Parts: sequence; structure tokens; C-alpha cells
Amino acid sequence: MGFFSSHLSRTPIVKRLLSSSPSTLSSSSSTARALTATSHPPISHAGLHNNNSHKEEEEKKKKMGDGGGWDSSKASMAGYHVSSGGGYMRGAVFWEPNKPLSIEDFNMPRPKAGELLIKTKGCGVCHSDLHVLKGEIPFSNPCAIGHEITGEVVEHGPMTDPKIVQRLPVGSHVVGAFIMPCGNCFHCSKGHDDLCEDFFAYNRAKGTLYDGETRLFLRGSGKPVYMYSMGGLAEYCVVPANALTILPSSLPYTESAILGCAVFTAYGAMAHAAEVRPGDSVAVIGVGGVGSR
Ligand SMILES: [Zn+2]
Ligand SMILES: [Zn+2]
Repeated sequence: MGFFSSHLSRTPIVKRLLSSSPSTLSSSSSTARALTATSHPPISHAGLHNNNSHKEEEEKKKKMGDGGGWDSSKASMAGYHVSSGGGYMRGAVFWEPNKPLSIEDFNMPRPKAGELLIKTKGCGVCHSDLHVLKGEIPFSNPCAIGHEITGEVVEHGPMTDPKIVQRLPVGSHVVGAFIMPCGNCFHCSKGHDDLCEDFFAYNRAKGTLYDGETRLFLRGSGKPVYMYSMGGLAEYCVVPANALTILPSSLPYTESAILGCAVFTAYGAMAHAAEVRPGDSVAVIGVGGVGSR
């Protein structure tokens, strides 16, 4: 339970990240700033061999029409230059406690069956991330932190169930949950995704997905980088389909990033533990990142 209680003491950095425009954030949160959603990401896409990102963004907006839906039949992998497997991306790497993160080049991560490659649009900074940075939560290193993401579906892993492809088509806006349920274990099969055995045995204990491998490797050296959830502080991330749901196009990427951790942590406490109902009077103790939701 300590893991969950840690979510009740989030720092103001989350609020700052989510309530400020990128241009007003302090330099101390520059990593998060660089990875939050903008229509023209601050990180140069030269590293992705994507020199036409602006043009492609405009093209995509045209295809989106009134924003009511994305026609996946018109979506093109070519825009992301990942179909050949030769692309690369940048992301923030945690090396050891109390050392600054560094921005590194990665091979473009490859999703496997039942997984999606997501172009990260927003990523919150949770107190759990800070616990990892301080060494208060032991975790495999080097690793990519960040577990509150929104993004756009880029690609499905080979042999992914067509129902998943239909539910989360290429180009759709999605939000990720920090617990990434396997969908098959004893607890998942009973609907208790939050207790997923594989998530805790593989991701939290080893920094991998459920085949015991990470999807993140440094460009050049090929050194494995472990994943705290999906490793969201990167330009792209691989997420199991069970951890993704559609983000309505009416909701913004940046502010919605915390739906998959801070918001449902607060919702769970209110709806299930306190059984708060509309109209009830409540006292919120500890109005931090979670309490303010
Ligand atoms: Zn969190
Ligand atoms: Zn499970």
C-alpha cells in the first residue's frame, strides 16, 4: 500500500507543469516542458528524420476534419519514419539516485503483440517519479520514468488482436494508465486490474514488459533502458493496449495526462473508499497533486 500512499503526496511541480503554458515553466522542469504537448514540439524532430513535421501536422488536421474522429484508413506510418525500424527518438534517462536526468537518443521502440507505439504528447511528473529519482523507490537503472501520458497511436505491434486495432486505431488520441494490466492473470480476469500480478512482477520489479524485456535501447550502444510503467518522458513510448483508452478530441493532451494516475487515484479514494456521492460535503486533507483533483 505504500506505493499507493506515495501518490497522495505529490509535489507542486505537477500543478506547475499542468497549469502553466510551456513558455512560463521554470527551467527546473525543462524536461517535462520539452515533452508536453504542443502543436509544434519544442524538441527538434531532426532526430526523428522528420523534417516535414509541420506539414504533416497540418495534413493530419485536415484529415481530422471537425475533430470528431480520425480516419485510420488515411493514416500513414510514413509520416513517422518508423516503419523501417531504423528511426530513433530522444528521451530522459535516470541513471542513479540524486543525479540529473540526461536526454539520450534511443532506437525507435518496437511494440510487440498487444502493444502500441504512442507518440507522446503530454507526460505528468508524479511524486512516484521523484521517489525513484531520490532512490526512495528502488528501481532497475538506467530507466525511463514518466507514467502519466497522453499521446497519439502510431503503430500496433505485429499480430495484435484486430479488436484492439479497431478500438485504438492509428492516429487516435489516447491516455495511458500507470498500472498496465496484463489482462490474463488471476486478478485481471476478476476485474481487479490494479492488482495485476504481471505488472508488479515484471514492470515494477524488473522494469520490463511481460515477456521480461524492455522496449527501450540506447542508440549506438544498444544498452537496455528499463521502463517505469511505459517510460513516458520520451518522444515515443510502447504501451500495452490494456493500459490505454481513447481521449476524447475535446480534451487537451497536456492537462489530460494526469488522468491515468493522479485523477483515478483521487477518484478511487472518493468513489470506493469514502463512497462520496454528489451533494456530499467533504473535507480534503492534503490538497496536493491528488487532493486538488
Ligand atoms: Zn503517479
Ligand atoms: Zn494481470
